[in-house]
Amino acid sequence: MTTLIKGGTLVNEGRTFNGSLVIDDERITQIIEGNHTPEVSYDEVIDASGCFVLPGIIDDHVHFREPGLTEKADIDTESRAAAAGGVTTYFDMPNTVPQTTTLEALEEKFALAAQKSHVNYSFFFGATNDNAALFPQLDPHRIPGIKLFMGSSTGNMLVDRREALDRIFATAPMIIMTHCEDTDIINRNMAAVKAKYGDDPKVTHHPEIRSEEACYESTRLAVELATRHHARLHVAHLTTERELGLIPSNQISHLSNITAEATVSHLYFCDRDYTALGTRIKCNPAIKTERDRDALREAINDGRITVIGTDHAPHLLSQKEGGCARAASGMPMIQFSLVTMLELVDQGVLSLERLVELMCHNPARLFEVRQRGFLREGYQADIVLVRPNTGWTVTKDRIQSRCGWSPMEGHMYLWRVERTLCNGHTVYSQGRVDTSYIGQPVAFR
Ligand SMILES: [Zn+2]
Repeated sequence: MTTLIKGGTLVNEGRTFNGSLVIDDERITQIIEGNHTPEVSYDEVIDASGCFVLPGIIDDHVHFREPGLTEKADIDTESRAAAAGGVTTYFDMPNTVPQTTTLEALEEKFALAAQKSHVNYSFFFGATNDNAALFPQLDPHRIPGIKLFMGSSTGNMLVDRREALDRIFATAPMIIMTHCEDTDIINRNMAAVKAKYGDDPKVTHHPEIRSEEACYESTRLAVELATRHHARLHVAHLTTERELGLIPSNQISHLSNITAEATVSHLYFCDRDYTALGTRIKCNPAIKTERDRDALREAINDGRITVIGTDHAPHLLSQKEGGCARAASGMPMIQFSLVTMLELVDQGVLSLERLVELMCHNPARLFEVRQRGFLREGYQADIVLVRPNTGWTVTKDRIQSRCGWSPMEGHMYLWRVERTLCNGHTVYSQGRVDTSYIGQPVAFR
């Protein structure tokens, strides 16, 4: 099966150019610069005129809720949302039921994905206070890293004992990706806010409770531990200007041992949006001030943020009722992450080339993903076509996620995901996901 993607504008490795791309079965076999294409016949010709052709997005941070929490989402529904959003690879987090903190639970996830994931996948292994002994048995060619909830209240995966933290940072054979929020500070803030405003304070207080200080103290500790133990640390979802002071500026030619992720939601929203969107945008760590958001926007351009992920974390709308105490934290975002970032490109926040670095190339570089994340000859044909200047509005019927809602409902986008190819196969086009297609496990290193 050969495919020609013809006449688009390719964006790859800092360059934007007119060209075409030949796919043979699963792989990109030829990238042709300029407007002519060879006089060869292909099984399929895709007309990309008017479109930008990017590597498929690699989302390093999702919660697809399977197994155990499938009333909210599952691998089938959320990988449909991924395909519709131009995401061809995702790394799922371990706070499912059971938690992915044993080798058996990890294998179960791979088995589930092999049956129902419509794009490529892998899974983080979750650290606990007492499972570091399993680290040597983890296969570094199969998983991106170890997820560590440092003092965050996600199930009982909260790792708070200092000896346990030291052991994890000293022995982890791969990247440690941390959720950094200090539980003691959060509990103290929650008690103070409750004393003033009652048992379930309005969501506008969420960033007071999950405060800058709670983030800073935990991120500071993570950086200190990583430095002491020469570990590789990737701090998930940074939210504050202050924390950015702890992160070195990483150049794409050389990523240091300490890197950080920002999420689309924290780059797009700020605390003023709680008024209109309420608990829909309640997530942990909290969306903070406009000043923090603007600092994150600066950091995606100067190398302190290396990767943009989503922290796609669906809940049912009924679980989002209430205030700071009662409403669940987390929101779906994977279907609209690329178009949202393209909107920020239109606003001049970042360039299209930089978007591709942060959402495609850098996740591949950081986690040493094999043969994905770039438009390169010989690489897997994970490709997304996006079309500018074509207005459309997010309505419920377009939402692929099981939860059936989005913080972006009613929003008009000017960019549209036209087509998504996963391993050379069109898994999404014209509003439809090919649910017969199953993605591949990602290989690393
Ligand atoms: Zn998360």
